Amino acid sequence: MTRLLVLLGDPVEHSLSPRLQNAALRATGLDGVYVPLQTRREDVAGVLRGVARSGGGGNVTLPHKEAAAKLVEAPTEALQRTGACNTFWLEEGRIHGDNTDVEGFRRALHGTVRGFGEEGDGEALVLGAGGGARAVVSALLDEGVERIWLRNRTVARARELVRDLGSSRVRVIGEPDPVTSLPPLRLVVNATRLGIHDGDPLPIDPTALPGTPVLLDLVYRPAETAWVRAGRDAGLRASDGGEMLVEQGALAFERWWGVRAPRDVMRRELDAARGAVEVRG
Ligand code: NAP
Repeated sequence: MTRLLVLLGDPVEHSLSPRLQNAALRATGLDGVYVPLQTRREDVAGVLRGVARSGGGGNVTLPHKEAAAKLVEAPTEALQRTGACNTFWLEEGRIHGDNTDVEGFRRALHGTVRGFGEEGDGEALVLGAGGGARAVVSALLDEGVERIWLRNRTVARARELVRDLGSSRVRVIGEPDPVTSLPPLRLVVNATRLGIHDGDPLPIDPTALPGTPVLLDLVYRPAETAWVRAGRDAGLRASDGGEMLVEQGALAFERWWGVRAPRDVMRRELDAARGAVEVRG
């Protein structure tokens, strides 16, 4: 029987996860289909439970990761720590949930900065306080980053994140932006939605940052994000969310199917999706 996997979010049309997952299914010959479902907040519980109880599973994307976490009956440690669920499935009659963004981000970070974490790794600034930021902060704590500065448009939400993660190494900074007074930064991560749409303002001016940090954008676009481009223009090392997308998706695939995900196929599909749009654009 064909297994249904879904992407729950609002919006979902920007996501390349359906292309990556369906390419992986074709390559492995597994009998499943992955479809995006634009889902309103009030429908998340019904859709997630209905899909899982009928033997399917899926991913959860913005802005529903925190709501989805509350529906999971058997959470992994990463989900419990972050309070955000990006992957769910049914196992032995219970809804299991994970947050593969944590390990996905960690792997993408190591792909960009070889040896990250080996030298204590200084201070980092994380922009945003949603589900993505929760995974990033969690991964950076695991990596031994000495101090993580957190900045979010809604300061109360950043404080809630710090309280939930319960670490004195994370500090909230408020608006307006005192980043120039921070110590030199090793890393800056954009975990806001800024950059999804053409014409979005930059999440932060890369030329105003103390030190020469590496920039990692969680946002990925068919082409390079404007923030990554601005960082590279300023002489900084900068990567977008493409590699994290592949890694978190591959880890989710492995939770659903119990076999190794074909990462090369998924990476090629990502490149093809980007190439196709760039040619059209
Ligand atoms: P979310 O839970 O909806 O959180 C959105 C975040 O963006 C919040 O911090 C929000 O601030 C901020 N934000 C939204 N509009 C803003 C604006 N106009 N100005 C400043 N800040 C704004 O979303 P999420 O799940 O954390 O995802 C965040 C981003 O990461 C998305 O672009 C998503 O696609 C990306 N992501 C990528 C991957 C990957 O694999 N590459 C994985 C996870 C997430 P407030 O709290 O003030 O609303």
